[in-house]
Amino acid sequence: MSHSQMKVAMLSAHSCPVGKLGTRDTGGMSVCIRELACELGRLGHSVDIYTRVHDPDDRQIYELCNNARLIHLTAGGNEEIDKLVLYSHLPAFASNLEEFRERRELTYNMIFSHYWLSGVAGLSLQQWWRVPHVTMFHTLGAVKNAVKAEAHLSAGDDEPELRVDNERILVEKCHRVVASTEQEKQAITGYYGASPGKISVIPCGVNLDQFTVLDMAQARRYLSLDGERIVLCVGRIDPLKGVDKLIKALPYLRDMRLKLIVIGGGDDSRSDVEELRGLARSLEVDHAVVFAGTVKHEQLVYYYNAADVCVVPSYYESFGLVALESLACGTPVVATDVGNHRSVIRQGETGYVVRDNSPRRLADRIALLLTGPGSDKRSASSIRASVSGFSWSNSAEAFVRECRPLLDDSSVS
Ligand code: UDP
Repeated sequence: MSHSQMKVAMLSAHSCPVGKLGTRDTGGMSVCIRELACELGRLGHSVDIYTRVHDPDDRQIYELCNNARLIHLTAGGNEEIDKLVLYSHLPAFASNLEEFRERRELTYNMIFSHYWLSGVAGLSLQQWWRVPHVTMFHTLGAVKNAVKAEAHLSAGDDEPELRVDNERILVEKCHRVVASTEQEKQAITGYYGASPGKISVIPCGVNLDQFTVLDMAQARRYLSLDGERIVLCVGRIDPLKGVDKLIKALPYLRDMRLKLIVIGGGDDSRSDVEELRGLARSLEVDHAVVFAGTVKHEQLVYYYNAADVCVVPSYYESFGLVALESLACGTPVVATDVGNHRSVIRQGETGYVVRDNSPRRLADRIALLLTGPGSDKRSASSIRASVSGFSWSNSAEAFVRECRPLLDDSSVS
């Protein structure tokens, strides 16, 4: 029998897909989950996203969009808890989900888990329900540890063995793994011994209706910014994002009267932001740096349009949505050679991919982009056109193509 409609239980145990973007644990994965769920809904499939309650005021059920809902479950109380503490509550998360499903007489024919913690909960559900389980890691513990060691980043703890072991188990036991780039696929095979045939590469997308080209002067007026050159950096504040390297690039660019706007970092990142502020002071560039804190996703279009260049100086990205969002707004990007950057940035045309985030290299490329030959000819519309293939509807269609056949695979149940 051929199943046409997918009824997906999506799992996002630790991070709420409608949580505040730019805080410590809420970033690209939440955007990806929301957008994929809505696009699958648009294609006629149905999606319930299950997440843990984080706030006693959370409603249990939100209608996200057509055919897609968000459902909060209690597991380990209803306050914020650490990710590793959540691990011990995953059995409760899975059994509460099952209880909810039974009470409402819901049925699912697919599990789609995001991040290893949800994957672990998904392994129980896959046994109980006998339906295919697709997982997407978003970041990999083994890669994070390797990157931190190579970059001599002492900040933050290493990713625990518990995570690395569970990622390896998941790769073996789930039915399909979705990676967002070829590099991620290689890492999953290399570190965890996955068979390449089990991994589908499905690039993330950008919401092309939300991230559009606006008039730069108007965007600046809207944000009360003046006529300086603006360098933008957007993301969670995390040592792996390399924001310190971008601040260290500023002294090389002193003559250019630049303002760096750093977006991201909620209350939970205050000490990291203070450290970056201290770094800017010690380099005497503090007058040129604004820490804007978290900005709502819907407001970011103004920042991307107000900026002359967006810089992504990360040591590691599994995909890297920010570069894509910036390009969709017609703003060029300087980014390290991680995640999807090499496939979305056209070298010298829509920005530069740099080998590493050394301050000198970042500064050189920023200067070249802003004042080098051709800098006055680059048009926002052609930059945007270069990423027109990266829509979330394409990602959702690829997901259906790659994963729906699992519904007819008799070896799954
Ligand atoms: N973001 C946001 N507001 C902020 C900081 C970040 O909306 O204050 C969004 C950003 O636009 C992007 C996501 O969070 O969509 C970050 O995704 P990315 O893939 O760049 O990094 P990740 O969080 O996955 O490491």
